[in-house]
Amino acid sequence: MAKVNEIFGCNVFNEAVMQERLPKNVYKALRKTMAEGKEIDASIADVVASAMKDWALEKGATHYTHWFQPMTGITAEKHDAFISPTGDGKVILEFSGKELIKGEPDASSFPSGGLRATFEARGYTTWDPTSYAFVKDGTLYIPTAFGSYGGEVLDKKTPLLRSMEALNKQAIRILAKFGKSVTRVTTTVGPEQEYFLVDKAMYAKRKDLILTGRTLFGAKPAKGQELEDHYFGNIRTRVAEYMKDLDEELWKLGILAKTKHNEVAPAQHELAPIFGTTNVATDHNQLTMELMKKIAEKHDLVCLLHEKPFAGVNGSGKHNNWSMSTSDGENLLEPGKSPKDNTQFLLFLSAVIKAVDEYADLLRVSVASAGNDHRLGANEAPPAIISMFLGDELTDILESIEKGEEAHDALKTYMETGVDALPKFAKDTTDRNRTSPFAFTGNKFEFRSLGSTASIAGPNIVLNTTVAEVLEQFADRLDGASDVEKEVLAIVKETMAEHKRIIFNGNNYSDEWVEEAARRGLPNLKTSVDAIPTFSTEKSIALFEKHGIFSRTEVESRTDILLEGYAKVINIEALTMLDMAKKEILPAVLKYNKEVFETLKIKQELGLNVSVEKEQSYGAKLSNLTESLMSKIDELEQVLLDAKNHEEVFDHAKYYREYVFESMQTLRMVADELETMVSATEWPFPTYVDLLFYV
Ligand code: ADP
Ligand code: MG
Repeated sequence: MAKVNEIFGCNVFNEAVMQERLPKNVYKALRKTMAEGKEIDASIADVVASAMKDWALEKGATHYTHWFQPMTGITAEKHDAFISPTGDGKVILEFSGKELIKGEPDASSFPSGGLRATFEARGYTTWDPTSYAFVKDGTLYIPTAFGSYGGEVLDKKTPLLRSMEALNKQAIRILAKFGKSVTRVTTTVGPEQEYFLVDKAMYAKRKDLILTGRTLFGAKPAKGQELEDHYFGNIRTRVAEYMKDLDEELWKLGILAKTKHNEVAPAQHELAPIFGTTNVATDHNQLTMELMKKIAEKHDLVCLLHEKPFAGVNGSGKHNNWSMSTSDGENLLEPGKSPKDNTQFLLFLSAVIKAVDEYADLLRVSVASAGNDHRLGANEAPPAIISMFLGDELTDILESIEKGEEAHDALKTYMETGVDALPKFAKDTTDRNRTSPFAFTGNKFEFRSLGSTASIAGPNIVLNTTVAEVLEQFADRLDGASDVEKEVLAIVKETMAEHKRIIFNGNNYSDEWVEEAARRGLPNLKTSVDAIPTFSTEKSIALFEKHGIFSRTEVESRTDILLEGYAKVINIEALTMLDMAKKEILPAVLKYNKEVFETLKIKQELGLNVSVEKEQSYGAKLSNLTESLMSKIDELEQVLLDAKNHEEVFDHAKYYREYVFESMQTLRMVADELETMVSATEWPFPTYVDLLFYV
């Protein structure tokens, strides 16, 4: 393998390349845009485009693409060759500033939630100079934002950039009150990505995995994750080779893949990058997911990014580590040595507390999906109730301020192993809390409710916007205050008094918490269908409009897209289930029935003095379950037909949740029980053991 520092970023049009290849004034102008979010001067675009093209050609590229993030949650790309005819039957390779800045993909086949009639096909992609271009598989990729002819936003990137801008504006105002003049405040994100790997040959035999990304059938294996031997366990050679390949490819694209390990469930793993600016981290997470899948194929593996590929073992999530950082590199959520005296920190912390409490429902919607419904609240992932873990030290400080008492910083304690030879070190002042959906982990918050498949754009749009809103309220107050320190403490005190209900340092998995949260009035939006409508409440629309993130119609259309998306996913799953049940499971079960009853018949016909009691009861059980399988198939078919009577978007999604999904569950239960009875040689597809414990 080449040296890491040599391959790192070798396929990225990054700082170093720009500095080397762009004229000084052009480089400076571009830098300014990237660092300060200033508008780019169109005159430099031609120069940048030409340098990008020359560099990309040297990397073997023949095409370029405007790479964007439509509301499907995945990325989209259309490749154009650099060729341009010269009139003598030959071509030259060209790439203009205009082509760099603007692209025009047909918008009519991307979800718009009714924002755009199908005949209005025009859509534009606009170069995002704040995220580096890169070369991948012979194409120059240009990160872009995507909108309609009429100006409506059709992607996840534009609102994300807007939300970062909103937060920047308000955070700068606050910092000015502390006598600090910074050029920019950005939000930073480090997403930890969980995934499963399964053997490609096994995968190919399962229609459910191919079509829906998760197993729709499968009896519990004899061994699951109960021995707790997979988490951080020794990584199997085949998987280790995959991870090594993946790291290398990610590094080439300038992605700071840092940590890799086995996760809790068998065949489950995790990759965490070093954090970066939110929009870049979003692009990188999309690329990471894409490469995870691509590289798996090379190793005859398939990477499953679904939130719940297997029932009964852990699902996959994505921990969104989030903070705010100034252009001078100051992390605004760093408590420092003495958090109680760090009023600036306490103010930013209070802003997050208030934002999470006031907009807990929006945070919940931001992670809602059919796939994630299997995780949230299922005793493995955080519950659907959003609350916040601060740890004892910060909670104590904030409570003291609330009560007007003197606050104390926690005393440093040292790790005692009882073995002199082992080095001693100061312990963190607080333990972790694995069960909290939104946990303070030292100098950042970790939003843990995200599903593994989803783009991280949505949750970060909500985080940035809601915190920006609260920062604005705080900044307005500080504008009118004569003594800033005093006013800050008053704000912290008030925030605690009004919003401490969101703070919960206990066990989020317990039933008591569900009751306690209800007493505190915290929303418990159990399923996506419960959660999604809250995206378009008047309060939410007012928030997004005020900060210029989404218009009312954009919020409403996104709500519809989410609801429609939910119903579509369940519909595909239900149809896949029916197909497998009718064409694969039932024939196998009927064949096995025949074997059992033939055996019984032979025994009876022989007239020997042997008991056939067991065969009879076994046969009866098998026969009854087979009957039941057939009637559950009929039921699900009928329920799907009736879906047509529920046309209105919300009603439709709700119907899918309450009837189709439930009916799928009962069909699965019967089929899974049959799996435990039917001969292994007859069972039509690989079982959980085959899938989870491949070598
Ligand atoms: P922990 O051990 O608390 O999980 P790590 O250092 O392993 O912390 O970090 C987990 C993730 O959080 C990594 O992706 C890391 O880059 C990210 N992270 C660390 N600091 C920040 C920050 N200031 N902003 C955003 N993400 C961060
Ligand atoms: Mg973590």
